[in-house]
Amino acid sequence: MTSFTDLGLDQALLNALIAGKYTQPTPIQAQAIPPVLAGRDLLGIAQTGTGKTAAFALPILHRLAAGNRRPAPKTCRALILSPTRELASQIADKFRAYGREMKLSVVTVFGGVGMNPQVQALARGVDVLVATPGRLIDHMQQGNLRLDAVETVVLDEADQMLDLGFVHAIKRISQALPKQRQSLFFSATMPQSIGQLAAGFLKDPVRVEVTPAATTVERIDQQVIFVEAERKRALLAEIMADPAITRALVFTRTKHGADRVARHLTGGGVPASAIHGNKSQSQRERALADFKAGRVRVLVATDIAARGIDVTGVSHVLNFELPNVPESYVHRIGRTARAGKDGMAISLCAQDERAYLRDIEKVTRQRIPFTDRRGDAKLAAATAAEPKGEARSHQQQRPHGHSHGGGRNDGQRGEAHRGAPHRSEQGQPQQNRKPGGNKRFGRPQQGGGQNRGQRSAAH
Ligand code: AMP
Repeated sequence: MTSFTDLGLDQALLNALIAGKYTQPTPIQAQAIPPVLAGRDLLGIAQTGTGKTAAFALPILHRLAAGNRRPAPKTCRALILSPTRELASQIADKFRAYGREMKLSVVTVFGGVGMNPQVQALARGVDVLVATPGRLIDHMQQGNLRLDAVETVVLDEADQMLDLGFVHAIKRISQALPKQRQSLFFSATMPQSIGQLAAGFLKDPVRVEVTPAATTVERIDQQVIFVEAERKRALLAEIMADPAITRALVFTRTKHGADRVARHLTGGGVPASAIHGNKSQSQRERALADFKAGRVRVLVATDIAARGIDVTGVSHVLNFELPNVPESYVHRIGRTARAGKDGMAISLCAQDERAYLRDIEKVTRQRIPFTDRRGDAKLAAATAAEPKGEARSHQQQRPHGHSHGGGRNDGQRGEAHRGAPHRSEQGQPQQNRKPGGNKRFGRPQQGGGQNRGQRSAAH
């Protein structure tokens, strides 16, 4: 197996990696670092959580240190483009951590904060500039920065850039870059539109692809709970009572939804913060810091706000609402199970979200087991009042194949997964619910069949 030493990285970087307890390169690092060190362009297909930041940060730092030049005023030597401020901050933090023994300057530039400190930092010239596209263009237009001395440029999370409407900004930035440069391009997904953007950005790139969505997702234990929209908040509070949930990210579709859920949890004795685009930069930073430090156990976030949030030790991702874009599901649940750790994702799915669930299962090429909550008294109580309609709508589905523990199959899902192993589901008659007992939301028990779903059914 490749080691960081084998990759030929500068000793100062190796020391920082040892300090950060990185023992082994991740697959994207092992594959990307050698060609980037050699000066090649790179097309990296990898999502957050794979170690992609170090995959570009380490060789960039190595090359900058080897070049041993000072940046001229109002220029930068390496430019990293990030779709969000949170991701930009985190990338910059990584550069600072890896480059701690190098005398290189790292500056971030993003919206939502004052221009002046950024103007001053740029005036001196910077080695590594991490920027969101909009603010970068503002600085270019005001003459605070030129891009003609960029040696290496990175476009990170290109798919998110397009989703957020940055395509024109990126093209403008590209035009301001020197023709002679090294370009690295990362995206979790590679639809045609991204392929075209990459083609215009890269020259004869080395393509490195790690963990297609499905493989990464496979490492994460997933469950779906069918529940009526109005019951979700009560159910979430019940779920959160499980002490196995040590650090949870809860996703909502809207900013107001995030606030409401955070308020409800806090009111119910589970301190939670919300993070979304309507919050000021300092509020977002504080929420994130509280969450990282463990002062709040639950962070409620929208997709965009959560993008790039890198908090280790997230034990659970809770989808309060399913995302309507399947890739977002992959992004969301990728916040747990980071860097090889185990994680768990629980999704609350209302009737009108069934189509989203099917799309997600198509994209991830796997079925998400649904939880049989018979064994959980607390949960049974939380859902006992669940209107019969929801429960019946599952029970009435035509059962097919064998079923576990008397459970029936959800016909809608069965339809989409014909021939698949079946799982029992939550819509059990009340009298079938066992009192007390099984932990539903802690780390799931290992073993128990080829289908993770069977685990939740086997009892
Ligand atoms: P990223 O995909 O860049 O967001 O990285 C995901 C997480 O993995 C971050 O917390 C990194 O600090 C961590 N990480 C990256 N590379 C390694 C490595 N080789 N060994 C251990 N942790 C790593």
